[in-house]
Amino acid sequence: MKKNRFLYVSMLMMALLGSMVATSCGDDEEEVGKKEVVSHKIQGMWKYAFGDEDFIVMFLNADSTGYMIEYDNGEIDKNKAFTYNYNAETNLLTVYWDTYQDKAVVQWINEDSFRWNFDGDKEIMIWNRQILDEDNADDAEGDGMDGMGGTASLICPDDNHPHIIDLGLPSGTKWCCCNVDATAPEEFGGYYAWGETSEKSVYDENTYAYFDNNTAKYINIGSYITGTSYDVAHVKMGDSWCMPTNAQLTELIFKNRFSITSYNGVRGLLITGQNKNQLFLPFAGKKRVGYPLDAGDDFFYWAGNVDEENIKFAYDFYFTSYGAGISDWRYIAHSVRPVHK
Ligand SMILES: [Zn+2]
Repeated sequence: MKKNRFLYVSMLMMALLGSMVATSCGDDEEEVGKKEVVSHKIQGMWKYAFGDEDFIVMFLNADSTGYMIEYDNGEIDKNKAFTYNYNAETNLLTVYWDTYQDKAVVQWINEDSFRWNFDGDKEIMIWNRQILDEDNADDAEGDGMDGMGGTASLICPDDNHPHIIDLGLPSGTKWCCCNVDATAPEEFGGYYAWGETSEKSVYDENTYAYFDNNTAKYINIGSYITGTSYDVAHVKMGDSWCMPTNAQLTELIFKNRFSITSYNGVRGLLITGQNKNQLFLPFAGKKRVGYPLDAGDDFFYWAGNVDEENIKFAYDFYFTSYGAGISDWRYIAHSVRPVHK
């Protein structure tokens, strides 16, 4: 979707690795040499943090496609798609970018973290899994983090939704317990094209309110629509609620523990904050002419920020059976999960 727009993330990582090698000490070749080669499931969502607000997230999808997103001060800085091959016997991971490839030796620490060495570099770059296995309810690691998967039982204090959910986030952001138009956390609610505030029967470019059919161009309604008349959460739920910003969506996904689970019989992502409060994002799918809804497997949540480099796209967070990412065509109808003002 967005090829050739970004500096290659792998080049960034090579530069990063180079700078870290130069300042690191205590390489322990003997210890590395003794480690057993153990293979675990490499598919998933991984995070490498080189600062609290500066990190790289990598998706390694089951279909051999991948995606990397670099965050700078909590905001998306670069992203890049790739394909990959992983040999579980040799633990060799080969990443194929547009015109070149990188090889890395994966050294497992446990099933939820690994370090890798690019092309013989000794520096340790540790990736931690950002999503637990489905229905991983039992405390297999003995780390006291059980109960994060399986079936969630209590998210809201009562049935008077919407509630304000405090996950103890650094920004102070409070989230809504349910989607726009939903009356419970597991309900899908409405589906909206970016910037539209009413639902439609057909979602394509021709019906998109901010697509000019004469010029075949997307109409600029601003780079940031949170809290405006284009913000469906603000328009439909009042002044207390609005669409999240890109940074708020990023913080929600990457500052918390989360797992795929079910709540009242609906599959989704259960997010658990440091304070143990929880938020549930149902797999509501998305609406687009010619495509299935894919509810139960996929979700798509809008942020209020357009992609300023190409205003056909706006930022979101999507998580699907084929992969995950952070932007989509504006005309496609997504869910909206409000934040409290
Ligand atoms: Zn609630």
